[in-house]
Amino acid sequence: MATTQRDYYEILGVDRSAGETDIKKAFRGLARTLHPDVSDEPDAEERFREVVEAYEVLSKPETRELYDRYGHAGLQSGGFTPTSFDLGSLSDLFAAFFGDDLFGVGARPRRARGADVGTQIEIELVEAAKGVTREVPFPVTVSCDACRGSGAEPGTEPVTCSSCGGAGRVQQVSRTVFGEFIRAQTCSGCGGSGRVVEHPCQSCAGTGRLVEERTLEVEIPAGIHDGQQIRLSGEGHAGVVGGRAGDVYVQVRVRPDPRFVREGNDVFSTVDLTMTEAALGSTLSVDTIDGEVELEFEAGTQPGDIRVLRGRGMPVLQGFGRGDHRVLVNVQVPRRLTDEQQALLQEFERKVGEDTYRADEGFFEKLKSAFR
Ligand SMILES: [Zn+2]
Ligand SMILES: [Zn+2]
Repeated sequence: MATTQRDYYEILGVDRSAGETDIKKAFRGLARTLHPDVSDEPDAEERFREVVEAYEVLSKPETRELYDRYGHAGLQSGGFTPTSFDLGSLSDLFAAFFGDDLFGVGARPRRARGADVGTQIEIELVEAAKGVTREVPFPVTVSCDACRGSGAEPGTEPVTCSSCGGAGRVQQVSRTVFGEFIRAQTCSGCGGSGRVVEHPCQSCAGTGRLVEERTLEVEIPAGIHDGQQIRLSGEGHAGVVGGRAGDVYVQVRVRPDPRFVREGNDVFSTVDLTMTEAALGSTLSVDTIDGEVELEFEAGTQPGDIRVLRGRGMPVLQGFGRGDHRVLVNVQVPRRLTDEQQALLQEFERKVGEDTYRADEGFFEKLKSAFR
């Protein structure tokens, strides 16, 4: 027997030509605002039932067709009866309709998902370049083995809560000058689980959960950036009786390496050449994230020159290839000279010719590349 004679399209606020998605959308929106747990409207529950009924009819082609042709009478003779439900099981109803929990975590403590765990580890830049496996310890709430999470001493069972009759929720009616207000509240007798433990489990003091130090091996992928998180699905705190466990989020801090500056997947570093090494040319070893490499610097190497080591930067996270490593040349000018050194340099200066400091063609281009 239908509980309303109002027009179902009107109740949902949709056109008669509305498609499946629009109907679903309208229903969701209304259900969210009218749910008696959310709404303070005195007639919220009544309207909510209407909305559910309208959705039930219009979301199924058979019943919708009957209703379109013959209205409420058609449904009645077609044997349609709206699903009866109690408000305590509404979240289940939504899960059945939409495959998710309309009201989010906490609306139904009985199945509440466990909380997430956040933890942090620090790795070196060179480890980030290669990828590394780390043991990550963290405290986590687990389901008690002795009572299998029920909280009841093994051999006993939790019993149905007498305050709410197992619904986990109680309706509170308050009378005011404006009328009766009905609100469903989480039952204080059982905390919403619908069941109470008469003989608490000794291992977990009746909570059904224990705190345990857990260590997981976490594979940190090559190319990870500072601050990125790795999610370990289902490794977090245990859910309340039957609820699924939360996740673990491992935040990875990449310790800055004093030798390098990382920018995206590129790595920058500097190399110091003495004035004479730069002028005469020299071979020097330079640190890269792969280790030392020998670099040849030709005679006349200038401060600000950049050597690009293609593909020697950081690997692209979950991708292919690597960034570049750019080595910036710094030329050291002597700060303190002995009399003899001074004399030698003065001697050199006297012999400087027109070509001595003449820039190569393309010097300006090279300089520009330093700033790109
Ligand atoms: Zn236990
Ligand atoms: Zn209860």
